[in-house]
Amino acid sequence: KEMAEKLAVEAWEAKEMLREVSIKDGLTNLFNHKYFQDIMDKEIPRVERYAHVMSLIMVDIDYFKKINDTYGHPQGDIVLRSIADVFDQTIRKPDVAARYGGEEFAIMLPETDIKGAVILAERLRQIVEKLEMKLGDKIVKVTISLGVTTYDPGRGRKTKAEIVDAADKALYSSKKTGRNKLSIML
Ligand code: GH3
Ligand code: MG
Ligand code: MG
Repeated sequence: KEMAEKLAVEAWEAKEMLREVSIKDGLTNLFNHKYFQDIMDKEIPRVERYAHVMSLIMVDIDYFKKINDTYGHPQGDIVLRSIADVFDQTIRKPDVAARYGGEEFAIMLPETDIKGAVILAERLRQIVEKLEMKLGDKIVKVTISLGVTTYDPGRGRKTKAEIVDAADKALYSSKKTGRNKLSIML
């Protein structure tokens, strides 16, 4: 009987590990792109059904190419991990931080209006701005640009693509108007 229990526990652990690997990004340990898409597909109908709101923050590291060019790709990876850790440690439990692509991140905030999203986005911006990362014997600092949007179905239905596009356009606006800042697009 003990043997059967041990095997059952091991099978459960193996299954948990597989799930973890399938939803997490290997470099940053944030959620991966696929999981972000899935969670948006789940959250959007929920928001519509219960007349709630949700917010989305898109983040892109400023002049990241220069970090790679100056310190090397492996050191660039360390910077990516440090920024991801800031997100992970600053968001609340129901929030979902994902690596959207290379050095771009998406943070989905359930039950959060534009005010709450802007407060978090600004907090993240300030923490990253102050963060000193040790790369070998060098201290490196980076900044991030952010785009914030809120989905309130009461003000008109939107698709997932439209919500992501709004956050992306806001991010683009931050890049165009100086970087190390956040912009809003509703
Ligand atoms: P901008 O302020 O306009 O965003 O400039 P940027 O240099 O950050 O933007 P760009 O999109 O030109 O460059 C992004 C860089 O991110 C290029 C690519 O080599 C790097 N990158 C993407 N994924 C990874 C990764 O996993 N590790 C490392 N080290 N670098 C990555
Ligand atoms: Mg980019
Ligand atoms: Mg960038």
